[in-house]
Amino acid sequence: MNRILLEVKEMMAHVEKDVCIGCGACPSICPEVFEMDEDGLAIAFQEHVPENQEALAEEAAESCPTEAIILS
Ligand code: SF4
Repeated sequence: MNRILLEVKEMMAHVEKDVCIGCGACPSICPEVFEMDEDGLAIAFQEHVPENQEALAEEAAESCPTEAIILS
């Protein structure tokens, strides 16, 4: 019997803090993944992006003016 293995790739999010300018766009677009920290810069507090948030995380990354958001 053949077994079919499906690999489910989980999206990961990361913010390059050296590049972030603290514009606030990413948490306003995808607050389930991004938030502003005490330095006024964004962090991905949810590094494993929930499947139902992937489209918003991509939108946040595309909206980032400095391309500080890395999705993998
Ligand atoms: S959109 Fe980009 S520059 Fe703006 S807060 Fe998020 S990571 Fe920082």
